[in-house]
Amino acid sequence: MNAAPADQIRLLDLQALDSRLDQLAHRRRTLPEHAEIDKATADHNALKDLVVAAQAQLGDTTREQAKAEADVEQVRSRAARNQQRMDSGAVSPKDLENLQHENASLAKRQGDLEDIVLEVMERLESAQTRVVELTARLEHSSVVVAEAEGRRDAEFAEIDGQVEKVRRDREAIAHIIPADLMKSYLRLREQQGGVGAARLYQRRCEGCRTEFSITEFNAIKAEPADKVLRCENCGRILVRTGESGV
Ligand SMILES: [Zn+2]
Repeated sequence: MNAAPADQIRLLDLQALDSRLDQLAHRRRTLPEHAEIDKATADHNALKDLVVAAQAQLGDTTREQAKAEADVEQVRSRAARNQQRMDSGAVSPKDLENLQHENASLAKRQGDLEDIVLEVMERLESAQTRVVELTARLEHSSVVVAEAEGRRDAEFAEIDGQVEKVRRDREAIAHIIPADLMKSYLRLREQQGGVGAARLYQRRCEGCRTEFSITEFNAIKAEPADKVLRCENCGRILVRTGESGV
């Protein structure tokens, strides 16, 4: 393949811009914010589950408290009805004895149930505290996620701005380079880890760093300037410039 030396040198400019685009894409993919957002989101989701569980616990305990209070009320009103009957004087001595006996057990039962109410209230308070604490942590975790996403988006905007500029520069060069040279470059770039064209500098291929022997170098020197050379070691297009010493 033949190409004007100026077009071969343009290929090196194109290569530099393509490498720059690769670096920017790599930076975009590997921003530390990605891992930070993943972790903060996982924390947020875990907290969300904890809040749901704590709210369910609070609901259960609230119902338990209502039940315990209703139990106390039931015993209290039964004892009050018994007391009314006793106070009315319209009961037989035997019934009076039975009612007194029943109210004595109801008083003991009420005491036991009131202990249960107190115990449930304590659990209710800690369930409420837990919901409040976890909800505050959940809100904070949303802020942490949003803050990291904000930094990531600012990085994206900065990188994308650079990408746009480099792409414009690239297009300006790419459309000048002959199609066959371009095609060969793109194929090699894909095969050779993103570098399809390399400069010959101080007897070295800058693509693979191989140093050519004097004999090989002399052979390169003997080639016409418009011949598109390939590195014998890595196969990349080897471009001679004013600094190549050829
Ligand atoms: Zn090479």
